[in-house]
Amino acid sequence: MFVNRDIRDIVLEGIAASPGIAIGKVFLLKEEFCLIRKEISKSFREVERKRFDDAIEKTRNEFMVMYNKINDILGENYAHIATVHLLILDDPALKKDVYKLILDGVNTEYALFKVFDKIIRSFDGISDSFFKERKIDIQNVAKKILANLFGNKGKSLTEIDEKSIVIANNLTPADTVSVRGKKIAGFATDIGGKTSHTAIIAQGLAIPAVVGLKNISSLVKAGETIIIDGDKGEVILSPSSKVLLYYKNKYDLQLSKIVELEKFKNLTSETIDKHKIFIFANIDHLDEVSLVLNKGAVGIGLYRTETIYFNRDSIPTEQEHFDTYSKVVQQVSPHVITIRTFDLGGDKLTKMRLLNLNFESNPFLGLRSIRLCLKYPEIFISQLRAILRLSVLGKVKLMYPMISGLAEVRAANAILSEVKKDLRKENIKFDENMEVGVMIEVPSAVAVIDSIVKEVDFVSIGTNDLIQYTLAVDRVNENVAYLYDPMHPAILRFIKRIIDEAYKAGIKVAMCGEMAGEPKYMPIILGMGLDEFSVSPSQIAPIKKIVRSISFVDCKTIADKVLKLEDSKSILKEIDLFYETRGINA
Ligand code: PEP
Ligand code: MG
Repeated sequence: MFVNRDIRDIVLEGIAASPGIAIGKVFLLKEEFCLIRKEISKSFREVERKRFDDAIEKTRNEFMVMYNKINDILGENYAHIATVHLLILDDPALKKDVYKLILDGVNTEYALFKVFDKIIRSFDGISDSFFKERKIDIQNVAKKILANLFGNKGKSLTEIDEKSIVIANNLTPADTVSVRGKKIAGFATDIGGKTSHTAIIAQGLAIPAVVGLKNISSLVKAGETIIIDGDKGEVILSPSSKVLLYYKNKYDLQLSKIVELEKFKNLTSETIDKHKIFIFANIDHLDEVSLVLNKGAVGIGLYRTETIYFNRDSIPTEQEHFDTYSKVVQQVSPHVITIRTFDLGGDKLTKMRLLNLNFESNPFLGLRSIRLCLKYPEIFISQLRAILRLSVLGKVKLMYPMISGLAEVRAANAILSEVKKDLRKENIKFDENMEVGVMIEVPSAVAVIDSIVKEVDFVSIGTNDLIQYTLAVDRVNENVAYLYDPMHPAILRFIKRIIDEAYKAGIKVAMCGEMAGEPKYMPIILGMGLDEFSVSPSQIAPIKKIVRSISFVDCKTIADKVLKLEDSKSILKEIDLFYETRGINA
């Protein structure tokens, strides 16, 4: 815990989503604030009430200016409209109701919206023109107060023109992808979890981020300087000069650490007793390829292709798939690239409201990923055709996401066979031996892994979803983030089972979830026998560093030991002890 904190510093605690320190000015993302209900903790309720009072005061001043202006130009009769607005604004009953909601823990925007909505609705069905006008007056007053609450400061991401920290209630993965190349120092959101796709994309872009802060978007003002601590999962508002200095030093230290890690990029990934592992990278865009290969990845273990669907309103054609991926494949060549067929749905919804997905009430359990492909094969086929055509341009592997059982593997492979037949007929070349694998990320697939491994060339463990589905914890929901536990014995036993069954069948097994890139977990995963890791670009060097400082024999010993333990607390204790006794700072 930081000890020299000034009393002025407001520290908000959230979930560390992407590592690093960022210091910068707030860019507040425009949103439909009034419709979003946020819970305000007890300590912030007075702050909320003050925001409401300030907005009322500001609105009163504006109505006074309006009154004077109309009075000067048109006379008192016309200025009466401003008087009506002032009377509504100062209605004590209205204020009382808003205060009550705020003190009950509701954010100001939502409280105001609720109170005004109730009043406005009471006019519904009244046709008298006098009351109709009063209804419009009330709506206008509500709009004015709301505008002053937001300070008219919400903007869209395209308007960013200086290096800023983006603050939003939520950023979708599509939003996050669209900030690529923009001047983003960091971001922080009210909602979200560590393995939400927004967090994963932020890691890919090396942007420090904190999510799950609950109400940061209503606490910050556009333009104010704040600090993001993506390592600890904290955001510091109104930092004192002492705290700013502390974080500036931390930022400099971070830069020197990055330089220090650079030296690992050309070293082999092997333990001190010469056990070799293979570190691949996860990417979702061409821009990341040179970066990850430069950092020492031996190939791409997961190319998330669904980003091709983001920020557009039409379905991509086969040629668009081909053109987009071919640049990536050519740049990765001669290294291996595992292209995952698109994994839409869940938190990765698209602007085009593809097949009404946005209306599912449980999107992570809905028509997501391979299910979507199998239900709408025409969309799947154009992607498969493109990937097969690409297979002659490099070392391409194909991978299906979210497989829940053998039937889905067979159904997907049946479509693939048909596509291959068509290409042969059309004399289009492709690699007849292209390897086809599946992600294991649904608990039912773990249960029948012994059958699945007989029908595929490789498997890759998607821990982000495997943890979500096994522990029944929504990966983007900050309220249950404390239950999202990679060291839960159920998860470790599942992983061990997958690795053992894959090896028994003589096929390769990798891990491409975020867990693979967490240095702390390395001894356990390595000790369970896994030797292919596919990680976020920023994690390549840190895990290489750890691997080179531990021995495989020791990893096997600790893995055997923790697999017998019954709770994650004891498992984590063993890991800490492992590092402590070896003097390693993981
Ligand atoms: C996973 O679930 O672990 C995974 C790598 O896939 P995604 O994060 O894209 O769902
Ligand atoms: Mg997944």
